[in-house]
Amino acid sequence: MDDTQDRYSEAPRCQPCDGRAMLSEATADRFVQVTEGRLVKFRCPDGADSPNDAVWHLFNPTAERGRSGRA
Ligand SMILES: [Zn+2]
Repeated sequence: MDDTQDRYSEAPRCQPCDGRAMLSEATADRFVQVTEGRLVKFRCPDGADSPNDAVWHLFNPTAERGRSGRA
């Protein structure tokens, strides 16, 4: 057990990105690892207000297939 899940549930939400959890790159990387690639990280396109600490999000390409039309 570790605190990765807690970190996700406690993370602030990014409204422009559909309420996704706002994560550090290190945390996002950890989720990618623990899910063996089922989750994919991407940098928040709306993160310009935090230039020193980029915001990363996670998405599930299987669950969200066809939703955005772009990968
Ligand atoms: Zn975002």
